[in-house]
Amino acid sequence: MAGRCHVILIGPQGSGKGTQATRIAAPLGLVHVATGDLFRQLMTRDDPLAREVRSYYDRGELVPDDVTLRVLLERLDELERELPSYRGALLDGYPRNRAQAEALDRVLRDRNDTIAAVVHLAVPRAVLIERLSGRLICPQCGATYHRTFAPPRVEGQCDQCGAPLVQRSDDTPEAIARRLDTYEQHTAPLLEYYRERGLVIDIDGNRPIDEVTRTIVSALEPVLADPSRCRSS
Ligand code: ADP
Ligand code: ADP
Ligand code: ZN
Repeated sequence: MAGRCHVILIGPQGSGKGTQATRIAAPLGLVHVATGDLFRQLMTRDDPLAREVRSYYDRGELVPDDVTLRVLLERLDELERELPSYRGALLDGYPRNRAQAEALDRVLRDRNDTIAAVVHLAVPRAVLIERLSGRLICPQCGATYHRTFAPPRVEGQCDQCGAPLVQRSDDTPEAIARRLDTYEQHTAPLLEYYRERGLVIDIDGNRPIDEVTRTIVSALEPVLADPSRCRSS
């Protein structure tokens, strides 16, 4: 069986990973897999695992690597069962540190899957803070909005499903600052790890949403069609 061909999105909190992933995944034949979304879904339960995740999540700290990898693998296995024709995952929020990147390489090797590209979304810190403090999300379908930059058609209501929009519990000034510091310290260095393998595509994320979408799609299309990068194409 041909292996899956995954794409990793890397960028700081607020760079637009979620926003772009929802727009580009389907046209590229990829499925958006966001570990943060998987955790938010998991935390709607009330069991020991959900409580453990919440204790890290609400402080803006990373959930332990073993728990995170388990949750990610469960989702990838579920996709194999439910969507046998999918090309690969568009990974958003994983990996976030060296140990996670190495674990990912190991599990992908075992599955006979590859990483086709790593898309790096760059945005200056002042812009990120402005974006995150105005972010609104739909707790029902996961859609993302912004009070000023991407408002819903009806104030406070999701365009997709009509549910009332909320602010994320970790979009507070303290948790935002902590997450951005963690990104700089542990996640940004992964770009070097992938750059050495020639996988990184740098994108200027400080432009209007549609423009960023067009740039990413034009950059990824040839990569996903290249059999030396992507065996499953
Ligand atoms: P990430 O997943 O990288 O944390 P999001 O996609 O959630 O980022 O975007 C963060 C916030 O910024 C959201 O409120 C979103 O609506 C807004 N946003 C995303 N991309 C842009 C952009 N290009 N210009 C202006 N605002 C944006
Ligand atoms: P952000 O990019 O703003 O941190 P996410 O929705 O991607 O938001 O993640 C929210 C929270 O979920 C993180 O602060 C962290 O607690 C947890 N999380 C998500 N992905 C990972 C990961 N790869 N490793 C550890 N924790 C994670
Ligand atoms: Zn919704």
